[in-house]
Amino acid sequence: MDTYMDIQIWGEDGEIAASQIGDMLRQLEKDWSATQGNSVIGRLNRGEDVELTAQQQELLQKAKAMAERTGGAFDPQLRSVSLAWGFLNKAYEIPDAKTIEKALWEKQWDMGAAIKGYAGQQSVSVLDTMRVDRALLNLGGNVQTYGSKADGTPWSIGIQNPRGADYVGVVSVEGTASIVTSGDYQRYFEQDGIRYHHIMDPKTGYPADSGLSSVTVICRDGMTADALSTALFVMGLEEGTAFWRESSDFEAVFILSDGQIYATEGAGLSGCEFEVIRREN
Ligand code: AMP
Ligand code: MG
Repeated sequence: MDTYMDIQIWGEDGEIAASQIGDMLRQLEKDWSATQGNSVIGRLNRGEDVELTAQQQELLQKAKAMAERTGGAFDPQLRSVSLAWGFLNKAYEIPDAKTIEKALWEKQWDMGAAIKGYAGQQSVSVLDTMRVDRALLNLGGNVQTYGSKADGTPWSIGIQNPRGADYVGVVSVEGTASIVTSGDYQRYFEQDGIRYHHIMDPKTGYPADSGLSSVTVICRDGMTADALSTALFVMGLEEGTAFWRESSDFEAVFILSDGQIYATEGAGLSGCEFEVIRREN
């Protein structure tokens, strides 16, 4: 998945659980990685008849459902668009309007915005079958907690400063959850002083210009957390806040391009100054 992953597991079956999670991650990479070839996603994108396992069908269905739920802000068929901008092969360039139009029309699958969160929830399924007390997984910046800390205090997860190597604050999370951040600092290039990042606005085929530099989502379901972090980044603060008010399954922290921080009332954010987003205003 072109990133670093770090797995810590406490408990009798820690070793075997880590090894099974490793196998599961390698299989997900093989099936869904952007490097196509003979992968499930590569064959889907070539229009081949692919016999999907029940789990693969479920993943695709859920991606479609998240696209619908977010009004298309999460769009798992932007592969050609990301490719045109060079984000898949690091050959960065600004494509012309015609190229973007064609790329949008091609509707090639790309699970990049949801697969790491999905990997988190699949890890939880593995851990559930084992003698394991607790675990902390960092799957390329997507954090998955499992169980409770030994001393009973909540997990503390740092939220990265989008414009520095430090953390702007910490979210406290009880038990098993996914904490996923989408940001304009994770993958980008600059040209003539303008930053072009990897999160695309499906309406335009250009990097989403929503006034945000990152969105963190805290949710019990990993894939939902991941898809929503990307979608909320595309929506921006105002639309994202309205979306949160209509929902009941996640909390979020928004960092604006000017550094201002907004957090929903259940996000458990501390260690910084921020505006609280409430159910009713
Ligand atoms: P994330 O880091 O989870 O926000 O996912 C970003 C990745 O998902 C990008 O590198 C692309 O592969 C893909 N992507 C970009 N824009 C979108 C979008 N609007 N919806 C779904 N996937 C996207
Ligand atoms: Mg995402």
